[in-house]
Amino acid sequence: MEVVSNISLKAYNTFGIESTARHFVEVSSVEELQELLRLQEWKNTPKLILGGGSNLLFTAQYDGLIIKMNIRGIELVEENDEFIWVKVGAGENWHEFVMHCIEQGWGGVENLSLIPGTVGAAPMQNIGAYGVEIKDVFASLEAVKIDTVQRQTFSGEECQFGYRESVFKTIYKGQYIIASVTFRLSKHPEINTSYGAIEEVLTERLGEVGVKSASIREVSDAVIHIRQSKLPDPQEIGNAGSFFKNPVVPREQFETLQQQFDKVPGYPVSKNEVKVPAGWLIEQAGWKGKRFGNVGVHDRQALVLVNLGGAQGEEVKKLAYDIQQSVEEKFGILIQPEVNII
Ligand SMILES: Cc1cc2nc3c(=O)[nH]c(=O)nc-3n(C[C@H](O)[C@H](O)[C@H](O)COP(=O)(O)OP(=O)(O)OC[C@H]3O[C@@H](n4cnc5c(N)ncnc54)[C@H](O)[C@@H]3O)c2cc1C
Repeated sequence: MEVVSNISLKAYNTFGIESTARHFVEVSSVEELQELLRLQEWKNTPKLILGGGSNLLFTAQYDGLIIKMNIRGIELVEENDEFIWVKVGAGENWHEFVMHCIEQGWGGVENLSLIPGTVGAAPMQNIGAYGVEIKDVFASLEAVKIDTVQRQTFSGEECQFGYRESVFKTIYKGQYIIASVTFRLSKHPEINTSYGAIEEVLTERLGEVGVKSASIREVSDAVIHIRQSKLPDPQEIGNAGSFFKNPVVPREQFETLQQQFDKVPGYPVSKNEVKVPAGWLIEQAGWKGKRFGNVGVHDRQALVLVNLGGAQGEEVKKLAYDIQQSVEEKFGILIQPEVNII
């Protein structure tokens, strides 16, 4: 474990923003992480935990210690006739883990194929796509508390998962480092094709009868195909996926909106609340495909802000702020960033 100083973070964030870390260290085991946290010299230094850097925006030099999670390993911990429990190191790549599950025939995460980043960051915002969130397959996680250096296990209930939320983004923000996550996966998977274009793609590929008996691999392939056709690849154009969360508004507010904008889409999330796609709001406010210097709004997906080359984090932040203001002016809804602004 070697702490290095003043290193570039450009390769460590999918926005491809140039920034530097005052100090940077990679940890490969829980013991190594605990050893680092016990060192007196770092006790009072601000710390940032880094996975794949696919959900953050650096807006300045990071004047503290960045801890890059490299804890690896996929371990089968328990099984019965129906389920299998696997404990996965925080530093494992999420998509590679999904591919591993598919090879083994373990169902539950196939709809979450191709989400960038690490396993350890996945519970932070309860990652989700195509009708599935990690809370649906989550069993528990092990985290290390930064101040006491104690290991602690969290159940799903204790994580308080919500839409792109968990206790680690709210009341425990900045207090814990997730070291491993245990998932409960199905040995007899039931596929979920109800959301988005999955069914359409599978029908095209397998026919109407074939859809019902599609395998988890076929579902995963369909998800990968849809994502590749809709979302920009960070290797080609810097971005962090959806920049904003979809706002959830009271039903009365949604009904008032419908009177003004008859095409406004909405999905009920409870008896009194409706989720409105932020991408639609941003597009209607006229931002889709717009470019401003080194930054812009993606031309196929208005929810994605992009680094057109050489952008500063502050430029992206300013664009996000302008979008937020204009959406609020037009629709009376304040959209909130999903991306962690550092
Ligand atoms: C093209 C693209 C598509 C995307 N699509 C989706 C999608 O469909 N659904 C979705 O939910 N997200 C999506 N995302 C967002 C992102 O992939 C996820 O949020 C992912 O879980 C981030 O993982 P990461 O390892 O890159 O986290 P990072 O960006 O490194 O970190 C994110 C946050 O978590 C903290 N953190 C990271 N690891 C740990 C740890 N082990 N312990 C404690 N804190 C930690 C960091 O400090 C930071 O605050 C997308 C991103 C991109 C670029």
